[in-house]
Parts: sequence; C-alpha cells; structure tokens
Amino acid sequence: MEKKEMLQYAGRELPVLACVECCIVGGGTSGAAAAASAARNGLETLVIERGIALGGMQTLGLVEPFMPTFAPDSDTPFVREVKARMRAEEIEMSDGVTDFGWTNPETLAFVYDEILAEAGVHVLYHSVLVDIVRQQDTIQAVIVQTIEGLAAVRAHTFIDATGDALLSRLAGIPAEAGYEKTGNNQPMSFRFEMGGIDLAKLCDYMQSLHDDWCKTKPPYFEIALARHRDIKYKLEPFFVRGIESGELTEEDAEYFQAFTIPGKPGCMSMNCPELPVRFRASEAVSYSEGVRYGRAMIRRVSRYLIRHLPGFAHAYVSREAAMLGARESWRIVGKYRMTEEDYYARRHFADAVVRTAWYIDAHGEKVGEYLAAGEYYEVPYRSLVTREVSNLLVVGRCISVSFILEASMRIQPTCMSIGEAAGIAAAWAAKRGIAVNTLEWNDIPPGERSYVSR
Ligand SMILES: Cc1cc2nc3c(=O)[nH]c(=O)nc-3n(C[C@H](O)[C@H](O)[C@H](O)COP(=O)(O)OP(=O)(O)OC[C@H]3O[C@@H](n4cnc5c(N)ncnc54)[C@H](O)[C@@H]3O)c2cc1C
Repeated sequence: MEKKEMLQYAGRELPVLACVECCIVGGGTSGAAAAASAARNGLETLVIERGIALGGMQTLGLVEPFMPTFAPDSDTPFVREVKARMRAEEIEMSDGVTDFGWTNPETLAFVYDEILAEAGVHVLYHSVLVDIVRQQDTIQAVIVQTIEGLAAVRAHTFIDATGDALLSRLAGIPAEAGYEKTGNNQPMSFRFEMGGIDLAKLCDYMQSLHDDWCKTKPPYFEIALARHRDIKYKLEPFFVRGIESGELTEEDAEYFQAFTIPGKPGCMSMNCPELPVRFRASEAVSYSEGVRYGRAMIRRVSRYLIRHLPGFAHAYVSREAAMLGARESWRIVGKYRMTEEDYYARRHFADAVVRTAWYIDAHGEKVGEYLAAGEYYEVPYRSLVTREVSNLLVVGRCISVSFILEASMRIQPTCMSIGEAAGIAAAWAAKRGIAVNTLEWNDIPPGERSYVSR
C-alpha cells in the first residue's frame, strides 16, 4: 500500500490511502469470502470494514449457526475451508444430527483474520465508506472515514459487501428496500449472549414440556418460539405468563430463540429480541431508535429468563451484538433480479454461482413451502452485477433479489459462496481486461470456478 498520492474531492485534497486491484467494502459474511478469493486468485486486495472484526453479521451481529442450504453438495470450497479451520481451532460446527453449522463468533473472527492474512489481504478496520468518485461507468475511488480523517482508496474493481448496498447506491445503482406490498423491511433483531446457564437443567425442563423442537442435546441445544407462526411452541405458555404478569410486553414475546455456542459452555446466543417492524433497517433514524428500544427489550427478556426459566437462575447477559441484526434493508436492481418464481421453479442457470433450497423465511410476512429433498434453485452471476457500473460486483444479502426471495438466499453459507464467486470473477476479469459486468461466469474454466451448474 502506498500513501503518496492525493485526490481532489469536494474542493479539497484527500490522501489516497491505497491503490489496489480489488477493494471490498464490508468485511462481513460475503466480503471476507470475496477478499480471500480475490487475493488467492492474484489480485492485490483491500477490505474496508467499519468494525474491528471480519464476519459482519456472523461476528459483530452474533448470528449463529450457519443455517443449512438443504441443497445437496452446496458447500463451495471457502465454506468447507472455514468449517475445517474452525474444527482445527477446536470448534466442531457439526452436531452429527442436524445440518446446522454451530459457530463461535470470537473464533470465527480469528479464523477470518488468519485466512485473509495468509492470502495477503490488507484490511482497513474501523473505517467507514462515506462516498465514491465515479467517472462515466467506472468507480474511480471510494471515500472513507478513518481515524486519520477522510481518505480515498482507489481500485480497479470494487465489491459492495456492505449488506446495505451502500456502495452501489452511492454509485447511482437503482435499489429497493422493503416488501413491495407493505413497505416494511424484514424485522431486525438485537442479538445478545447469556452466560452462566445450567444447560442440563434447561434441557430437562424442555423435556418435561415434551418439547421436541430441538433434535440434539447439549452441548448443541436450541429453544424457540415464534408466535406469528402456526406451530404451537411448547414455550408459548411460559412467555404468555410473562405478558400477564407485566414482566414482558407482547413485542418481547413475539419471537424467541436461543442456541448454544460451541467453545462457550453454559452460554447461549439469543436470536432475539425481534424489534417491531416500525423500526426500519433502511432508515438511519429509525434504525437508531431501534437500538435503544431493543436494548430495553433485552433487559426485560433476560431478567424474565433469569427469574423464571429453569437453568437461568445464575445467568447473565455476557455480550451484546455490535450491530443490529438487519435481515433485509437495501437490494440492488442488477442485470437479473431474482424473485420467488425462481424458488418455486427450482430455476437453474448456466451462470450459477451457488445453489440453495433454504426456505422463504420473511419473518411476519411469509413463510414459504419447503422444496423437496434434492431440489434447489441457483443464484446467477448476473444478479451480482449492474448495467450502470462496469467495475462493480455486489455480494451478500444486497444482490439483485426481490424481498421475498432474499428471505431464502440470505443465509450465511449462500452469502459466503456468492462472495467467493465474486472474488474469482474479479480476478478473471482483471487479468483479461474484461469488465466484470460483461464477464460470462461460465467462460471461466470449470476447474477455476467455485461452483459449476449441473
Ligand atoms: C437476526 C438475524 C438472524 C439470522 N439468523 C441466521 C442464521 O441462524 N443462520 C444463517 O445462516 N443466517 C442467518 N441470518 C442471515 C445472515 O446472517 C445474513 O444474511 C448474512 O450474514 C449477511 O451477510 P452479508 O455479507 O450480506 O452482510 P454482513 O455479514 O452484515 O456484512 C456487512 C459488512 O459490511 C460492513 N459495513 C457496512 N456498511 C459499511 C460501511 N459504510 N463502511 C464499511 N463497512 C461497512 C459491516 O460492518 C459488516 O461487516 C440472520 C440474519 C439476522 C439479521
């Protein structure tokens, strides 16, 4: 990385912090994968990340486990590598019964650091994308707020891995947010972890309720409740008692889910509280108000568990997520916009970069039917690129996808595989002087692709 050049921006001169072949904005679930893959395919690569951990929702957002795609052989090499590296760090992600990939956020952040360091990726932590410089159909530079102040990063190719399609929107790419029918984003959750839980006691209690939701026993254990679904969860009366006593609100008790965390005995990762949909993931003020509201919900829910749920008597809140759990915010409109039609048609594409059969899980809006065993749909490369900008790839949950289909394709292994493919495409295009938005994924020899459609 060189630090000599200056760039004219908004009437002032900004230092150019780096000039690289590939710049990835957002070092999260898909961005970390994109970075590793771009660098391994020969590009000098830089990641810009606003937090101080890679992994995004998986680490800063405390979201675990990797949900299964339900599609046969869907794990691409990067997903398999992360699982193997976690195992080497003594985190066994497989419970031997389900297809969940149980993770541990601190270990995952370490593993990503290690992978990217080995691949030679530069990471600019604690740095936030604020603007871009575009000339005709090309992004010339991104403007970043760093601890030194504003600075620029130049690159040949940019990858938008912000989750919120921020880089794309700054570049003028059309984008959509929320459900076409209601305008709502998917609800956000403010995840947290609790320690000091007596899991054996909790498991005994759940068995006394004849709760067969969780197919495994501690150390891999899950409890859940979703009142918007038709399922009668065995924990429902427990939460209704909390509403009746005034200890919980209806909103607190709408959705509850907790997973154990490998490597953290007596600890559970709470996939809740789920914020009411009036708090919007695509609006700054609303998002911020959701933080305060969600923190108060954490307080009530955790206190209620400590007071009343067997196994929680000595429990405590051990960690709060460093970002709200936004399931959906902004999505680009790219060369191919995927919709639920693709899900129900089990559509395959010649330029597919990943397959999945995870069901449509648009909390509160729609839960789709499962595909039959062995069936799946694919995500085409054209959903990662735009008509307007020639040197931009988009990865993760903000690719070109409808609200409803995003509720299926957004799970972590799928986002990781999409990122991996983008890194390969960026390198292939750069070496041949092709624009990434005109590249044909299936021109890349099968042996060099992370995924080949059958
Ligand atoms: C509450 C919740 C529960 C979920 N449960 C599961 C589950 O159990 N299993 C599963 O597989 N999936 C689950 N998901 C879905 C999955 O975790 C996400 O869809 C996926 O991780 C998104 O990956 P991404 O790369 O698109 O975004 P992220 O992982 O969110 O990465 C985006 C990154 O960009 C960075 N960033 C954003 N803006 C900027 C900026 N301006 N400058 C610099 N950096 C920036 C962020 O800090 C972050 O690191 C869940 C999601 C949520 C919200």
